[in-house]
Amino acid sequence: MSSSSSNSNSSTDATSLNNSPNAETNSVNSSNTSSNPSSAFTRFLHKAQLITGLGVADAERAKDLEELNLRRCEKMKSELIERSPLIIFMLKHLRLSGCQVPEKNIFCVPCGSPYSSSGSSSSVAVSSSNTQNQTPVPPLHAGAYLPHPHGAIKLCAGHFFSKQHVESTIAHELVHMFDECRFKVDWTNLRHHACSEIRANNLSGDCRWTRELRRGEGIPGFGSGWTKGHQTCIRRRAITSVAANPACPSLAHAERAVNEVWESCFTDTRPFDEVY
Ligand SMILES: [Zn+2]
Repeated sequence: MSSSSSNSNSSTDATSLNNSPNAETNSVNSSNTSSNPSSAFTRFLHKAQLITGLGVADAERAKDLEELNLRRCEKMKSELIERSPLIIFMLKHLRLSGCQVPEKNIFCVPCGSPYSSSGSSSSVAVSSSNTQNQTPVPPLHAGAYLPHPHGAIKLCAGHFFSKQHVESTIAHELVHMFDECRFKVDWTNLRHHACSEIRANNLSGDCRWTRELRRGEGIPGFGSGWTKGHQTCIRRRAITSVAANPACPSLAHAERAVNEVWESCFTDTRPFDEVY
């Protein structure tokens, strides 16, 4: 975690702690409903205040939104684990490879929490204090694979724009988990990391054209064929993730690592027969 994000979190927490009691008092008093705080009407009124922002502090409203995002994220996650053919397939092959993934090991958190210490869109959180030379800095991350101690997947509640986005994010991280389960990946080895990123972006649906369009990258391969655009997306995202690895000295090192393993890793679609 960078020191700046750490300070930011501390500041937010302190503000939240200082404001919460007053905010609650103010909101209840302003609505003049403190006589029966458990009544349905009081709850309705307070909910309306949280939605409109009238009579409640920003910190309390933010906390309510955070809790809502967490509930939505956990609900989508549970539904996908139960019904998504893609997620069910990946979990099955992890199990067959000897790596059972309990549902609790895939969890939603408000990013900016201690569990989001990777602080980037890098899909693998490799712990290190060296974060000063990392370029480029990705704008927003949706999830991360946490290799230690038992393998877990963090989902950033509130960073998803659709259930399909949650699905491809879980699938992406499950590919990392599969690689570590099958191939004993050393995440500080840039070639290992590059290979897993190429596979994860290729197999998860991260680079389907609708996703690229939403990122503002245009339609992949427009004017040059879908396949080329698909590969450009995979390469770009893999380089960005490897560059964010604390063990990576520079963007040039990330590009080199991705180029060196590209041929063998792009064509390696295990456990799928081919890219769906
Ligand atoms: Zn990744």
